[in-house]
Amino acid sequence: MTVLDHTSTSTSTSTSTSTSTSTSTPAPARPAASPAVVAAAARGATKTYGSGDTQVVALAGVDVDFEAARFTAVMGPSGSGKSTLMHCMAGLDRLSAGSVTVGGVDVTAASERELTLLRRDRLGFVFQAFNLVPTLSALENITLPITLARRRPDQAWIDTVVETVGLTHRLGHRPGQLSGGQQQRVAVARALATRPEIVFADEPTGNLDSATGAEILAFMRHAVRDLGQTIVMVTHDPVAASYAHRVVFLADGRVRDELLAPTPDAVIDHMRRLGGR
Ligand code: ADP
Repeated sequence: MTVLDHTSTSTSTSTSTSTSTSTSTPAPARPAASPAVVAAAARGATKTYGSGDTQVVALAGVDVDFEAARFTAVMGPSGSGKSTLMHCMAGLDRLSAGSVTVGGVDVTAASERELTLLRRDRLGFVFQAFNLVPTLSALENITLPITLARRRPDQAWIDTVVETVGLTHRLGHRPGQLSGGQQQRVAVARALATRPEIVFADEPTGNLDSATGAEILAFMRHAVRDLGQTIVMVTHDPVAASYAHRVVFLADGRVRDELLAPTPDAVIDHMRRLGGR
């Protein structure tokens, strides 16, 4: 496994065509002088499925940086490569060419064992379907990654996450005794429990009504702004994307555009231009 410079400063996404900045929804503050630290990056990320006539190019050379302590949304029409990019960056799938680094570690060069450790120790995941263990309590679900890693929990951090996520009085409940929104709160808390370098969230509000979804999104934004976490979220919802600092737009397996301090209207406008709905 190659360890690269973790503190390299961000470069702009090379294929961006027009970076737009909206001022109507101010992004959460970040000290002006602090240089951007890249939490995860893709360079020439290419992924093809199949071969010959049936070959599908899911990623056609993606160059993108995801900055630390920032909330980034990834959007694009269906089939544009969002899930593939997420899976390859999170070490759940392998690129055909190009490279991905997370926290300075070259994911592309990692062995299966190294990938397992990377996923366990340095990455967090939030899925649309919550993916909680039904027989465990909320607290046991939250601390499961730490238990599996046989690590001593950072109790102060767990307390902070539990309190922030508003689950203090539900910790003994099993997932079946919780609402969908509460279950997703548990899932987000679990993703944050190990203080991962980056959390990948795949349509985290896709199964939630809009009010509950808004709570989860506000929590994720809080985790980034106040707890310094890094979150990359795939979404097709312009309102969800507007909670992020930045939206990266994919089309046909490439980064086509990005938007800073997004508003729902600006996101819709960009999606229209990309041919999305
Ligand atoms: P999105 O998440 O933006 O909807 P995906 O990353 O799921 O897009 O898919 C990008 C392209 O790759 C699509 O054309 C999809 O059909 C194709 N694809 C994704 N996974 C596979 C697979 N396992 N086998 C073959 N083609 C796939």
